[in-house]
Amino acid sequence: MPELSDVEGFRRYLARYAKGRRIDAVEVLDGSMLRNSSAQALGRAVRGRRFAAPERHGKWLIAPVGEAELLLHFGMTGLLRWTSGENEHHRHDRIVFHCPGGQLRYRNMRKFGGLWLARSEAERARVMGRLGPDAMAVGAVEFDELISRRRGKVKAALMDQKLIAGLGNLLADEILWRARINPRRPMTRLSRKDRRTLYETMGDVLRESNRRARVPSERGWLTGVRDKRGAACRRCGTELRKATIAGRTACWCPSCQRR
Ligand SMILES: [Zn+2]
Repeated sequence: MPELSDVEGFRRYLARYAKGRRIDAVEVLDGSMLRNSSAQALGRAVRGRRFAAPERHGKWLIAPVGEAELLLHFGMTGLLRWTSGENEHHRHDRIVFHCPGGQLRYRNMRKFGGLWLARSEAERARVMGRLGPDAMAVGAVEFDELISRRRGKVKAALMDQKLIAGLGNLLADEILWRARINPRRPMTRLSRKDRRTLYETMGDVLRESNRRARVPSERGWLTGVRDKRGAACRRCGTELRKATIAGRTACWCPSCQRR
């Protein structure tokens, strides 16, 4: 499931392959992925214009084209692919931007997420909703102010996009496992030192994950073992625990992350 680091990978991918290229045509293979425009309106807004440098906020990819912005959300299974030449469509290609020299494809198997067209900052804000600062850009003081006001479980707070944007299930569990903080711990029970540890661990996890455009799954990471049956903590060997928190399956070590 694309989280901040995956979307950061898509941002770099778009910058590498499509930035500066002109859009000659837009082929909408699945109109349901256009969330606030028609194929005609999208075509009118972007045809003949060029992809400018893309940005990212949390799990949103913002691709300016001419006067408009394409707001892309990747849901559970979305991704971008660049293909040069006239390749056949993949069965999950939903929207294809034809450029000189190749095509940028928005592919999405399960069709959560989609593409929105924004023609102004107000429209962008309306589509993306109220988002907290990006998890990669938030400063230590701001982070502390934001999360010290929050109630509820720490895992739910980390995944709350209105508080801090970009962290999903995998990143939140990884950060908590590394910081040795139980996902069910109430926010009010975190000390200033805990919050500082959380902030620093978040930075470490995001920098490493962004470098690879995904949460790494090798030694020293929770991701990679968390989905195995009877999986053990990579630090202490204790069997990992799982439970639903804030609608997602949290995974933690009952020994390293005591309540
Ligand atoms: Zn452990």
